[in-house]
Amino acid sequence: MKKHNFNAGPSILPREVIEKTAQAILDYNGSGLSLMEISHRAKDFQPVVDEARALFKELLGIPDGYSVLFLGGGASLEFCMVPYNFLEHKAAYLNTGTWAKKAMKEAKGFGEVVEVASSADANFTFIPKDYTVPADADYFHITTNNTIFGTEMRKDPDAPVPLVGDMSSDIFSRPVDVSKYICIYGGAQKNLAPSGVTFVIVKEDALGKVSRYIPTMLNYKTHVDAGTMFNTPPVVPIYAALQTLRWIKEQGGVPEMERRAIERADMLYGEIDRNKLFQGTAVQEDRSRMNICFVMAPEYKELEADFLKFATERGMVGIKGHRSVGGFRASCYNAMPKESVQALIDCMQEFEKQH
Ligand SMILES: *Cc1c(COP(=O)(O)O)cnc(C)c1O
Repeated sequence: MKKHNFNAGPSILPREVIEKTAQAILDYNGSGLSLMEISHRAKDFQPVVDEARALFKELLGIPDGYSVLFLGGGASLEFCMVPYNFLEHKAAYLNTGTWAKKAMKEAKGFGEVVEVASSADANFTFIPKDYTVPADADYFHITTNNTIFGTEMRKDPDAPVPLVGDMSSDIFSRPVDVSKYICIYGGAQKNLAPSGVTFVIVKEDALGKVSRYIPTMLNYKTHVDAGTMFNTPPVVPIYAALQTLRWIKEQGGVPEMERRAIERADMLYGEIDRNKLFQGTAVQEDRSRMNICFVMAPEYKELEADFLKFATERGMVGIKGHRSVGGFRASCYNAMPKESVQALIDCMQEFEKQH
């Protein structure tokens, strides 16, 4: 049976990315060696890093003066590296969910953290819009897509200070005004690659401004100066990321990824709103295109486990909601074909007919 992969992360990748990576693991460029067996300094591997960094810049329209890094540690390590490198006195954070809270927790170890607004009281079902960012903050940190709660900020906000963005789960799904940011980061395992590599886009002249000592590996400058090859990078995930970046470019780049994301989200939210058995959890205007969260309507609450079983039997994978929201979450990252979204909609309609 065909599987429809709605996993939240690690998650769906284009089939050709998986095949090309598998091939390179068996025999890298006809060398008779595996990608896993060669030096990251080998003349064969440097072009992979160079092309991946160049494609990042090209696809996102990153201005001059920014460096693209491929690091270890996940987005979770960036929660600490960001304040280590940028927080001298005070930083502003928008609290939009679990990941934003974790980022704030780390920052508190480095200076004053101002929570400018929070939607915690409403279980993070919306993105706060009424807030003031202190003009003396070193940066304003946002989580552009809240993977767990299914809300998304698709406009890079205006603020009196530079932005820092956790874009783990919506990178390359919409255009970004990178010039508003001093740092954009994310775990690659949602929209780009297998787990094991973290992408970081950092503005070079924003570095070196804090007075504390920064340990070598946690200092962005180390990695900028070394062309992201200071130590052994995660070679296999970077190789896979390159294949995804090439795939995005071939498909038509970020505008095409965004068009597909809108199409998928319109299809699925349309069904959620139409079907009497289901309802969405996030407020309409802040609904994520990447993580589509929904629950059973209150009068059908007891059918939740039945629907999960029904959909699983028809090939749906990973649609159980996160425990902090319940219900269902269909993650529809860049590689998600609209046929899979249609298959989920068919399930929802068939299930409705039976009830
Ligand atoms: C998954 C996720 C993280 C955590 O990423 P790790 O790479 O596992 O540390 C952080 N932020 C967001 C928005 C995420 O979706």
